[in-house]
Amino acid sequence: MLEIYQEKCIHCGGCITLCPTEALLLLEDKLTCDEELCLLCGDCVIFCPVEALELACEYQV
Ligand code: SF4
Ligand code: SF4
Repeated sequence: MLEIYQEKCIHCGGCITLCPTEALLLLEDKLTCDEELCLLCGDCVIFCPVEALELACEYQV
């Protein structure tokens, strides 16, 4: 899933613009990701100038 570090985000909007599936939204100054739309492509993670986004892997034990 896409991890969002709200405290780092400066609300530049770049990730929202580049996301191919429009999975990202700014709601009341909080960036949200619709996990059903997100392809985990990583484009937003690479773009973000303040490293507020990260792709987290989940492993089942
Ligand atoms: S990982 Fe890709 S699909 Fe998911 S929110 Fe970021 S740019 Fe959009
Ligand atoms: S690119 Fe980074 S700083 Fe800009 S809105 Fe997205 S998460 Fe926030």
